[in-house]
Parts: sequence; C-alpha cells; structure tokens
Amino acid sequence: MKRSLLGFFIFPLIFSCSNSFFNSNSKKESQIIHLNEEIYRNNLPNVLEKDIFPFSNVQEYSLFVRNFVDSNFEKDISDVYSFFKITKKLPKYTFNKVQNLNFFECEGAEYLYDDNKIISFTSNPSEEMFEKYKNFYKKYYPNFKDVLEERIHYYIKHEAGHYFYDMRSNELNAKNIFKDVNEKNVKQCYLYDVVLEGVAEYISCKGEIPFTAKFIDKDTLLCTDSLNKYYLYSTGFYLVKPILDLNFKRGIDLLIENPLEEKDLSCLKNYQDRILGLMKN
Ligand SMILES: [Zn+2]
Repeated sequence: MKRSLLGFFIFPLIFSCSNSFFNSNSKKESQIIHLNEEIYRNNLPNVLEKDIFPFSNVQEYSLFVRNFVDSNFEKDISDVYSFFKITKKLPKYTFNKVQNLNFFECEGAEYLYDDNKIISFTSNPSEEMFEKYKNFYKKYYPNFKDVLEERIHYYIKHEAGHYFYDMRSNELNAKNIFKDVNEKNVKQCYLYDVVLEGVAEYISCKGEIPFTAKFIDKDTLLCTDSLNKYYLYSTGFYLVKPILDLNFKRGIDLLIENPLEEKDLSCLKNYQDRILGLMKN
C-alpha cells in the first residue's frame, strides 16, 4: 500500500470500519479534530491551506466513490492476495447509505460477517453530513481526490483481509467468534476486534508499519493501556506483525485456533509470545 498521503495516514485513527467502539462510544467531534490537527501539524507543517475540493455535490461525490470501487476492487484484492499467496475467491460487494458516521467518514466499508461474505461500502451521505465533510477536507487536505483514492484502496484491501480471515476460520472449523460479539462490554469488543483489525491492517499494508503505528510505542500498546480504543488498529498490527512476518499462513491459523482471551488483555505481549512459541513446534 502506498503511504504517501498525509490524509490517508491520519485516517486510520478515526475510521470505524467494523469496529464497534467507534459506533457505540465515539469521542466528540472537537476532540477528533484536535487529534487530527495535532498529527497534521507535526507531520506536514508547510502544507498550505487550499480551497480544493473536487466535488460540488453529494451526487458527484457518491458517483466517484462507486466508480472508483468498481474499477479497483478486483485489482486491489488480487494485489494483496498474490502478495500473501492467498487463493480465495473474491468477496462480493455492495453499496449502502452512510449511517451514524461522522464528517470524516462519508465513505467507508465494512465486512459483513453474517451476510454472505459481502463487503459493504458506504457512499451516499446526507447533504448535511456532506457539507461538514467538505468543509473539513477543504481546510486540511490540499489534494483531497488523491487522499480519497488512497483511502478507498485501503478500504478494499483492509476488508479483504477480514474476508480472508473469516474464510480461513470456516475452513478450520474454528469457533465463529465474529458472530458471538456481545457489544455491551467494551473489553469484550476489544477482545474480539484487536486481532481481527490487526490482521486486516497487516494484510492491507502488506506487513509494513502503518503510519499511525509509527508514532506509538508498541511496548506500551501491548502491555499497558491495551484497551485504548483509538489505538485498536495499531495495537492489533503490532500484536500480529511478528507472528505473520515469521510465517503468514501458519500465523493466521494459530491466531484463529488460539483466540485471545480476557486474561491476555493485561499484557498482549504475553499472548504474542505464546503464539510465537507455538510456531516453533
Ligand atoms: Zn476492520
């Protein structure tokens, strides 16, 4: 995955994907803006604010997203699958209206575990949401179309990672952990999401360290404050990276066959070491 665009880098901190935390327990917009501004200032201080936003209305924008997904879906997934020597069939996909997202997320994607293995792309925001979205990106993103394209590539590959993990779980007759999530409990959600998101991140960026993860001390992520929902994706990535670097397919199988348990949450490094130990057998 190309990692050349700032907006794309910031994005994984805030998108929801299939992560229930963001839907059930999201921070206020002002806090999210602050977080993004901080990253923005730290990483690209010389970018001038420009009033460049390529879509004049929701319809134009939605059509662009749909066409871009249609043109790139197969190619993007084939790219990551060939990299990891995955031979699964491609998942199906569909488009939905945006629901309950914020102004960062007029487009998005979600892997539907219960719905015939379909990746669902959101692409049709309300006028009101689109205005907020447009104003934010006009202010902070000098070339939004490039950012958006990178983001859609990312969605496609990330969700394909979820699809692969789900398909492999079925093949191994593993307990279907995806359908058993009880969203009442943040800890439980984290328990189920962190490995799933880590694997999807790893697949989407072909094992490279994502931009957001570079700013975060991985030892801290893996052993203290593990339940920081804003770092779910980075934590998951650091958790699975050494395992999948060693042997991708064996690592995936061991993660599926030895799911994270609640007792592991106090120090994810211990879980990682346990899986690495199993890989030596
Ligand atoms: Zn995901």
